Amino acid sequence: MTLATVHSRAQTGLAAPEVAVEVDLAGGLPALAIVGLPETEVKESKDRVRAAIANSGYEFPTRRITVNLAPADLPKEGGRFDLAIALGILAASGQIPAAALSDYEFLGELSLSGALRSVRGALPATLAASRRSRRLVLPAVNGDEAALAADDAALTAVHLSDVAQSLVGDEVLWRAPEAATVEAGDDRLADIADVRGQPQAKRALEIAAAGGHSLLMIGPPGAGKTMLASRLPGLLPPMTREQALEVAAIASITPNGFQAAQWGRRPFRAPHHTASGVALVGGGSTPKPGEITLAHRGVLFLDELPEFDRKVLEVLREPLESGQIVISRAARQAEFPASFLFVAAMNPCPCGYFGDASGRCHCTHERITRYRSRLSGPLLDRIDMHLHVAPITKKVLMAPAESNERSSTVQARVIGARQSAMVRSGDCNAALTAAAVDQHCVCTPDAERLLSRAIDQLGLSARGYHRILRVARTIADLADAPTIEAAHVAEAIGFRQLERNISTP
Ligand SMILES: [Zn+2]
Repeated sequence: MTLATVHSRAQTGLAAPEVAVEVDLAGGLPALAIVGLPETEVKESKDRVRAAIANSGYEFPTRRITVNLAPADLPKEGGRFDLAIALGILAASGQIPAAALSDYEFLGELSLSGALRSVRGALPATLAASRRSRRLVLPAVNGDEAALAADDAALTAVHLSDVAQSLVGDEVLWRAPEAATVEAGDDRLADIADVRGQPQAKRALEIAAAGGHSLLMIGPPGAGKTMLASRLPGLLPPMTREQALEVAAIASITPNGFQAAQWGRRPFRAPHHTASGVALVGGGSTPKPGEITLAHRGVLFLDELPEFDRKVLEVLREPLESGQIVISRAARQAEFPASFLFVAAMNPCPCGYFGDASGRCHCTHERITRYRSRLSGPLLDRIDMHLHVAPITKKVLMAPAESNERSSTVQARVIGARQSAMVRSGDCNAALTAAAVDQHCVCTPDAERLLSRAIDQLGLSARGYHRILRVARTIADLADAPTIEAAHVAEAIGFRQLERNISTP
């Protein structure tokens, strides 16, 4: 045998396309050539593989070795193919049986000693291998991720020699990854009961969670906007296993990888307003996910919204509508999921204290208008609910907190309302199209009269009108009401504060 083929996997976005590592041994001057890898990666990989084989007690063949990674046009990042290349060389030189390789796929970077180092995207690769009915052999440090895929989808090892010996069949040194014991439950999340006072803001969070509605909080510094927003993941319904796997797969392709403690937790991402467009939406020469993808199935919170670069915010429009982002670079394109609950916060004026009873705000009308106009109209137009968050008073601050509702109680109502929406339209209310709004958001005559007055007085656009109806539908769902009533519409109109205030601060 002078030719061996080993299965491995590349990583592009969230996909793990198959790569065949072909190794050929021929006569001639001893050399190692790797084709199909970017030039810069080749040399390092050669050095690692050569040293790892020698240091694992095997012989590095003194022949002409050609390694081909096919298909050639896939983007391939360095070290992840080391293990497959080393095994290919061992099989081609007859040191391990080539036939034993076909039921497995291999992923792992080698250290010079032959120890296996972690790779990115272990979870997507494990899932992809198991769809091909092969077991993925990967570094033990990636075991937590691999354990999330189906049972017996993966095997882990700590050293090249463990893998080689297991293939020879002398001794089985690789093992099934053990699932980390993670306690499920929301008690690990910040609880809404920790937030004192703020009944209106809490109500808004409940409605946002129930309908999947985006939310903008306007209030002075210290009003607790960040604290409120961070409670939102705990109010959302628990994820299904498929959703949790999606979230874990995204974490798996980031530099930090998947942490077992994150399993089943909805993400909460709060990037700073200095974040670049690439950091927020993703990008780079090999496209990497941005904050909006890391927030997939969870909450994206942008504090101090007017301070964000307007161009960066404009890019949010696409994922807010479609739940995904397509990143195009000259050579390749990647698509990442980005279905998140969008929550933003801003001060009411540049100093932050406009409307404060102390009268400490001296911002001019002009300055306030300029500050607020930094928000992009089209983005603002896509936010379902606006609300003012006032600083809590000393009395509320010092009152006992025992009576506060816990997140689990609110979550139970959210789940009920979401089920009503799913049964009715097959989606959460925030996702209803204009046509579906007309079909599913049926109002009582009183509610219609109120809406009609609101359109005139607030000068609502068609888009704004539909937003009020969607939010009113969610409020009705929380009240278990089949038809939208006037009280539901009134509450929903109360969440369009910027339309009323922005022109007359
Ligand atoms: Zn001010």
